[in-house]
Amino acid sequence: MDLETACKEIDKAFAENGETDNELNILLMGGEPFIEFYLIRQIVDYVRSDYKNRKVVFKAVTNGTMVHGEIQDWLLANSDIFKVELSLDGFEADHNKFRSNSYSQIDFSFFSNLSKSVVSTVIIPETLGKLSGNIIFLSEKGYTIKSVIADGVDWSAEANAEVLAKQLMLLIEYYLKHPQKYPFNLLSLATYCVDSSFSLPKCSPGFSSKAVAADGSELACHRCSAYYNTGEWKIPAEDIDLKEIEYLNDACKNCCVKDICNTCPASIASVRNHKEQSEMSCRFSKILFYANAYFHIRLLTECPDHIFFKNRDTKQKRAMLNGSQYILKHLNPEVAF
Ligand code: SF4
Ligand code: SF4
Repeated sequence: MDLETACKEIDKAFAENGETDNELNILLMGGEPFIEFYLIRQIVDYVRSDYKNRKVVFKAVTNGTMVHGEIQDWLLANSDIFKVELSLDGFEADHNKFRSNSYSQIDFSFFSNLSKSVVSTVIIPETLGKLSGNIIFLSEKGYTIKSVIADGVDWSAEANAEVLAKQLMLLIEYYLKHPQKYPFNLLSLATYCVDSSFSLPKCSPGFSSKAVAADGSELACHRCSAYYNTGEWKIPAEDIDLKEIEYLNDACKNCCVKDICNTCPASIASVRNHKEQSEMSCRFSKILFYANAYFHIRLLTECPDHIFFKNRDTKQKRAMLNGSQYILKHLNPEVAF
């Protein structure tokens, strides 16, 4: 993207956001964003000078390989407005499987010392069996962990479901024994929104957010770009605006977790026409929600002082207990825990 396009789109986003106090979040997507470090610097300078009185936060997810020297200095100097998350999958061998042997090029001391050290991990079939080891490794290093199960890879092996369930159980035991470790995102799902007056806001791509491609064309979401739709993983052309993409399959309408499942329209659109991928995605979701329900009940009954409950009031904790019991009663994870 050139600077002119970037500034024009930022102007539009501020104008659409109105003269409000609402914070504008600008996420810079790669590939690797810091390949364009000098452009990033110019964009941030532009926002600092022309939008002094507006609330804005930039974020970039980086593989860390270029974050050294002057980029580190710049990130520290701009930490009030610019946040980074590190793509890091766990132990060196597992990280390198998916990340071009880049582990040794990361300056971990820099990322660990940021005020909030967030890492993004991607789970692939080759690393699923080491999920608990990798998450515990990252947790022990003090990172906040956001994991995603990779789209567009072959999850069809029957054993994967069982492996996922076993790995989650190992992590549950770990978090129960470590009350100061906040559970990673896949064990922090919103069970309190099931059979409850709480609700989870759903992503409305194109409404609450939009994406802009390098040539300035507007997209519903970054995952609708040509960059993300190469190879085998594709959002069909008729769904590219991500409108009216509510459920993965017909069974969702009567599923007890439908309000907290299916939260990413791009994910649904990318797999719902592929029978095998769609079935596996549903199966994994059931395992995740079942594990969360089991975990949250144990946390509530065995570890009421766990850090997971910090900032949650009694009403939400009651809803969590009720929602979790509801899930265990009504959801069949189709795998033994
Ligand atoms: S678990 Fe499966 S059936 Fe239930 S809402 Fe999610 S995708 Fe639909
Ligand atoms: S559709 Fe999914 S990937 Fe796109 S903005 Fe929404 S939640 Fe994010």
